[in-house]
Amino acid sequence: MRQDDCIFCKIIAGEIPSQAIYEDEEFKVILDVAPATKGHALILPKNHYANLYELPEEKATDVMKLAKKMMKVMTDKLHCDGFNLVQNNGEAAGQTVFHFHMHLVPRYKNDGEILKYIAQNPSQKELEEIKKAITE
Ligand code: AMP
Ligand code: ZN
Repeated sequence: MRQDDCIFCKIIAGEIPSQAIYEDEEFKVILDVAPATKGHALILPKNHYANLYELPEEKATDVMKLAKKMMKVMTDKLHCDGFNLVQNNGEAAGQTVFHFHMHLVPRYKNDGEILKYIAQNPSQKELEEIKKAITE
């Protein structure tokens, strides 16, 4: 399952170079070429799925298991102090490469504001309406 115009499919096939830090039958984990921090990596399923909506449930479970394994290795080797796992779905969410990937971003004490959002301040009524919209 590959899409010919997909940069990550090409990386998985070895047609575009990458720095792979892990590989198995299902996944390749590569270093991001434009890292937010030292060691910023991407978990790529070898099959092409555009995003998390398309990713089969059992693969989603495997992604999280692999994220945990990689976090442990990278914490040991890079001596980072924490991690952000980031996963963008859709252009509106900042996705730029439409082959599912999970960002593993090692964090270091005092490495600055890398992922920051501006918190909104909804009323209780607004929160209730959103809850209703989702659950009813
Ligand atoms: P996203 O915005 O979540 O779709 O993230 C796409 C990520 O892919 C960005 O962090 C890019 O820096 C990264 N990226 C794009 N091209 C390459 C490449 N050839 N090798 C490694 N990472 C890449
Ligand atoms: Zn692809």
